[in-house]
This record gives sequence, C-alpha cells and structure tokens, in this order.
Amino acid sequence: MSDALTELRERLAEIADLNAAGSLLGWDQQTMMPERAAPQRAEQLATLGRLLHERFTDDAVGRLLDAAEPLASPGSDAALVRVTRRDWEKARRVPSELAAELARAGALGHAAWVDARERSDFAAFLPFLRRNVELKLRYVECFDGFDDPYDVLLDDYEEGMTSAEVGALFAELRAGLVPLIAAIAERADAVDGSPLHGEFPVEGQRDLVGRVLRQLGWRADGWRIDEAAHPFATSFGPGDVRLTTRYDTAYVGMALYGAIHEFGHGLYEAQVDPALARGPLGEGVSLGVHESQSRLWENVVGRGRPFAGWLHGQLREIFPERFASVSVEDWFRAVNKVEPSLIRVEADEATYGLHIILRFELERAMIAGTVALEELPEAWNARMQEYLGVEVPGDAEGVLQDVHWSGGDIGYFSTYALGNLIGAQLWERARGDLPDLDAQLAAGDGSALREWLGSHVHRYGRTYPPRELVERVVGGPIAVQPFLDYLNGKLRPIYGLAA
Ligand code: ZN
Repeated sequence: MSDALTELRERLAEIADLNAAGSLLGWDQQTMMPERAAPQRAEQLATLGRLLHERFTDDAVGRLLDAAEPLASPGSDAALVRVTRRDWEKARRVPSELAAELARAGALGHAAWVDARERSDFAAFLPFLRRNVELKLRYVECFDGFDDPYDVLLDDYEEGMTSAEVGALFAELRAGLVPLIAAIAERADAVDGSPLHGEFPVEGQRDLVGRVLRQLGWRADGWRIDEAAHPFATSFGPGDVRLTTRYDTAYVGMALYGAIHEFGHGLYEAQVDPALARGPLGEGVSLGVHESQSRLWENVVGRGRPFAGWLHGQLREIFPERFASVSVEDWFRAVNKVEPSLIRVEADEATYGLHIILRFELERAMIAGTVALEELPEAWNARMQEYLGVEVPGDAEGVLQDVHWSGGDIGYFSTYALGNLIGAQLWERARGDLPDLDAQLAAGDGSALREWLGSHVHRYGRTYPPRELVERVVGGPIAVQPFLDYLNGKLRPIYGLAA
C-alpha cells in the first residue's frame, strides 16, 4: 500500500538523485574535466537544472504535501513535510523566466568579473553588477512577509535570520575585535610567521594532508581528496564525500589548513543520519552551521595549542630540515599570527570578522539603494581604511576580490562570520562535555570531538531549522561572547597582552 507520505518520499528521492548527479558533474568540472568539455558541461548542467526545477515545483508535489501532512508523525516525518513545503513554496514564487535570467546573468557576471579582476577594472564589471542587483530586487519582490528586502536574500542562506539580528551581532563583534586587533598591532613583531614559508615539495605536503585527515576521520572507503583551483567540499550522500585542496610549494598553510577546513564541511555531510539520505533533510542545515564546522576544525582544532604538538611532530618527520629549529611553540604562534590585510580569504581569525562586516554593510546598502553602485570602490576602500587601517592599492585587491557578487550571491557573506560565532559556542559546549578533549587532540585524536559533533549536530541534517538546532545544542541563541572569549584566550597570551 502506498500512502501520500511514501509517494512524497519516493518523489523526493528521485529529485535528490538528480541533484547528486548534478553535483557530481560540478565536482568533475572543477577537478577532472578537460578544458574543451566546458560548453557541453554547461548544457548538461542546464538540462539537469531545468528537469530538477520542473519536477520539484510541480503541482503534484503540492498535492502530495497536502495529503502527507496529516499522516506525518512528529519528528523526521513532520520535518520532511515542513522543509519540503518551505523549499517548494520558495521555488514556486520565482517565475521560471526570472530564475533563468538570474542564472544567465550570474554566468555572464562571473565571466566579466574574472576579466575585470584580472585588469583591476571595476568599471568593466559595473554593468554586470548592476544587472545582478536589479534582478535580485525583482527576486525580493516575489516574496512577502519580510521586514527588510535584504532579509529575503539572507533567508536563502540562513533560514529565519534577519538583517536586524545580524546587524546587532556584528556591532557587538566589531566592538570586541577592534580593541583586540589594536592591542595586537602594538606588538606586531612578537610573532614570527616565517615557519609557514619556505620550500615544501607537493609530495611532502600530500603526505602531511593525508596524515592529518586520516587522523581526524577521513576514510579511504567513503572519501576522496583531489586538487582544485578554488578548493571546496561536496558530497553525494553519507558514503561519498569529496574534498579538494590546492598546493603552494612556498607556503605550507594553504593546503594544510584548506584541507582541514574542507574536512569540517565533509564530515558534517558524512555524519548526517543515513536514514535521511536521498531526501531534503539529508544535508547540512545552513551555510552558517556548515561554516561553523569547517572553521571549528580549521581554526579551533587545527590552530589550537593541543593539536599543534601532534602536528609539529608530523611536520618534523616530513620536512626535517625546515623544522629542525622550529619549536612547537614557534609553529603555534606562527599559525596564529594576526595581521590586518587586504584579502579576506587570507585573513587571520581576528581580522576576518571585519572583512565580513564590511561586506555585510555594503550589501545592505546595495539592496536598500543607499550606495550608488559606481561608488562602491570608494565605499569599500574607505571602510578598509577605517576598520583595518589598510590602504587598498586597486580594485583587484579591493571590491573585486570575491567571486560572490559576480554570480548574484548577495546575502551570503554574513554566514561566514556567523559560522565563527556558532563554532565557538559549540566548542565551548563540547569542551564542557568532553573533559579529556585537549589531551586527545594533543595526541592527534579527533574521534571524541567528531562523535560529539555527529550526535549533537550532524546527524539531524535539516531536521531542525538552524536557529533551533543551535539553541538545542548550546542552550541559547547565536551569541558573540564565546567567540570573543575564545579569541582573547588564545591570542592575548601569544602576544603577551594582559587578559
Ligand atoms: Zn567553508
């Protein structure tokens, strides 16, 4: 006997399979695909995207949802109906003509951005950005019930989050970061970043990345790691997680910390309850929660003092000459060096938040129409000077540095900083629950933390909205103080500053 709930599940499983096939094509495009395949790949992805959209937004899905709702028992059935209805209603509100135009403008914008960034020429990118913003404003008009137009965009990445809430969190974050960064700047020479630089052959780095990932939980029978120009993680189910990294032979931090970051994303997907696979609940719940996982492993564990001891032992084995006179303490200090800089993706843990706050403010102004787009470079540069004391030499290192706006991803940036906040809250809670955690990490053993995250966060997939998931684990809303406590607790001793 087939009831509406079973039928709904079957339909959603088919959609999840199509989705996974599309992700696999995307993974291949960025890791393996020969260059000449690009035009064919674009067609294949467009066709799959159209089929997916048609099958999902179909009236039949709405009828199945109506019929399944009364049959759904509380728990994962009810969550399945709730999440599917939310996705379905959001997808149906956007006319397919507008969705297609957004995708097209994003692709054109991306190509124009690559070129404009290369020539550091914002004016060349401006018409494409203008088009993306216009289309985003039309997208916003498809929705009602939001207080602020920007909230519509934010909600696509972080369900239920509002710009007022993010604004309040960021004001508190900024107030905490500015004095810390200023105090560190007075003692900038106290930390030598040179242990990360030198000559690191790719073979040795591959060995290092492999050792670290295996230690943290990477398994050969369910994971892969490959190279990509712009590293990312993806997954096609709990038993198929794909990480990527890239190697810089002069800088060991790139591949090592990039791989640990992507491991955090991959682990989240790998530990979702297999019963939720092949459906909308079987993946990470939001970008902010996802980023909390990658940043927790990369920064809190990977750049933490306990794990530094084990890591340093591996570095000494693999690069004996380079690390002969570099102590654990030297390494630990080097990987935590704080230095205001131009480029977000290269920023340290402390200054990173200011890069995000700048983008969040400018995005809000773009959507509210309170900044003229042609004046964006000046607005950017003025904030870089004000927040970080950094002079922007040109648009390539300034307003053009990030890919997001070129593809129409407006509203995305704040999730990176929310990830830092959520990560610190989870860390605080995990440490409370796991009294031996430091000793385990000092021995290079990530299993207790991995299991803790699996049972408290990962296994639920999208069962709870992100806000509710965080509250269930940490006992309160997203907060700034745990992150500031964590940062001050680590950085002040390194720089010899009073607590
Ligand atoms: Zn990430």
